[in-house]
This record gives sequence, structure tokens and C-alpha cells, in this order.
Amino acid sequence: DHIANQIAAGEVVQRPASVVKELLENSVDAGAIQITLLIEDAGKSLIKVIDNGCGISETDIRLAFERHATSKIRKAEDLFAITTMGFRGEALASIAAVSQVECVSKTPDSSTGTRLVIEGGKVKEQLPEASMTGTSIAVKNLFFNIPARRNFLKSDSVELRHIYEEFIRIALAHPDKRLKLVNNGTEIYNLLPGTHKQRIISIFGNKMADNLLQIREQTTVITISGFLTMPSVAKKIKGEQYFFINKRFVKNSYLHHAIMAAYEGLLQPETYPSYFVFIDIDPAEIDVNIHPTKTEIKFRDDRTVYHLLKAAARKTLGINAV
Ligand code: ADP
Ligand code: MG
Repeated sequence: DHIANQIAAGEVVQRPASVVKELLENSVDAGAIQITLLIEDAGKSLIKVIDNGCGISETDIRLAFERHATSKIRKAEDLFAITTMGFRGEALASIAAVSQVECVSKTPDSSTGTRLVIEGGKVKEQLPEASMTGTSIAVKNLFFNIPARRNFLKSDSVELRHIYEEFIRIALAHPDKRLKLVNNGTEIYNLLPGTHKQRIISIFGNKMADNLLQIREQTTVITISGFLTMPSVAKKIKGEQYFFINKRFVKNSYLHHAIMAAYEGLLQPETYPSYFVFIDIDPAEIDVNIHPTKTEIKFRDDRTVYHLLKAAARKTLGINAV
């Protein structure tokens, strides 16, 4: 069973950034409005997420680290209306199988919290511990029990870049939450709640403020909002390009193409715009279950979405829709 867990873990946990993504998503699902991420040694020795969400009760805390023990999907029909980030109940079990985990959590209706320590998937201790409402999960020494995987990790700067990227995706999707990132004791981001525009600026800098053009379109099933950068400030390197569907970061080359088609004829050769596009759509219109890490997504009717997005982008860029 431990071997099976380790193998399954490989799918979810590829590198420190995968742990960061899963922990941050769980904090979002827990309704936290304040989330802190602490990193040491590019996540190789420590990844810790502290949130003020709903917490995990003493009776549920072990279960949370068992495979497929999700609290988020209760019946098969729920799969068609997924509104939480997680729904497979795999992440914590996978992370715990390949690291040393310390979780401290407290629910609002409990007077004291619980500490759970797991090493390589084995529970080492569970004790009451005084704590604030919410959850703190420390993931230490990732892949300590799989030296081949640990040696395969990239340099600290590469692993750190992946971690920052996961943090930024969550931060852009949730501008209403306070999010902090501390690396080796140095505060990298301290993002206050605000609008999407404020969040973009606090991540990418004040220069971005004058370069953003608003995009907006709405039908009965879909709302498109966000910002495109002016063609004149397109960069020689690939810009910051982000799509979010129902507050979930996604990669979608088809939608990317819709935006790029709207910029056609406006860009200097070999330059790339930035964009931050937020699409909200009835969950019944999408299928998020096509990839285990869920960064890809399929629309029931992607041609309609494509044309709507392209037309909205052309309007934003000052061109009559065709
Ligand atoms: P999933 O998110 O797919 O349900 P996970 O393995 O990521 O599966 O988490 C397992 C369960 O642990 C969740 O369903 C949730 O009940 C609980 N959980 C995990 N992280 C948190 C958190 N930060 N706050 C509250 N509950 C949590
Ligand atoms: Mg999860």
C-alpha cells in the first residue's frame, strides 16, 4: 500500500511547486481569506501554508490524509457541477507519502486544535494542540524517502520560479484574499485584498497600471472580464498571459489563439502582449476532469466561447468586431 501510494503520489507531486498548488487550493476551498506561504530552500526543506479557513476536526484529520477521502464530492452528480478546486481527495495523501508532514488545525466550534504528524504516509502522532481556527500544513523534506526523485529536482532558482508562478496564479484568481509569500525569511509578496486591477499591479508593478485595457462581455451563460495590455507595450519576450475559468487558472491554446487573433495587425513583429482574462461560466458547460492537475479544461461549446472572446478583445483593442 505504501508503494502504491508512492507511485500515485508521483502523478500529483512532481516538484515543490505541485505541493504549493495543492495546499493553496485547499486553503481556498476551506474559505480562507488570509493565506501565508512560507518557503525554505526552494521548497526542498520546507513548504508551509497557514490559513484562516474552516479547519479540520479532530475526527476528520487523519482521514484528510487518506487517499480518496475527500469531503468535497458526495455524489456522482456533483462531478458535473464542481465549484471547488479539489475534488479527487488525492493531494494530501500523495504529499504525505513522500514527505514529513505536520498539520495543525482547528475548527471554529472546537475549543482546542489538533496536531497530526505523518512521515512517508505513516502517522507518527496525533495530539491536542492550542491553535487559532484554521489550518497550518508544513511539508518538510520532500522526497526524503525517494532519493532518486529528490536528486532529480532542478536548481533552487528554477524550483522557486515554479513556486512563485503557482502562488501568482492563485493570487490573481483571488484578489479578495490577503496572500503572503515569505522565502527563506524574506517577504516576497504581501498582497492586500482589492480589485483584479490592483492585484495585477501589486504583482507585476506600477508600470503595468497605464498599460491595461479593460475587456468585458456578458451573455446569459458566460461573463468575460479582465485586462489586455496595449499593443504598443508588447514585449520581446512572451508576456504575462493568464486565463482563469471560474477562478481556476487554465492553459488553453484555443482561447489564447482567440486573443492573439484579436491583436492581429497591431503588434510589432516578434512581440507579445500580456493578458489577464477571467471567464465565469456555468460549471455544467465545462469539463475540468480531463487532466489530473486540472490546468486544462474543455468547453461543451468552445467555438462560441472563442468567437465571443475574440470579438470582446477586438472591441477592447478598438477594432470593430468582425
Ligand atoms: P480534495 O481537495 O480533492 O478534497 P485533498 O487531499 O487536497 O483532497 O484534501 C483532503 C481533504 O482534507 C479535503 O477534502 C478537506 O476536507 C481537508 N482539507 C485539506 N486542506 C484543508 C484546509 N486547508 N482547510 C480545511 N480542510 C482541509
Ligand atoms: Mg485538494
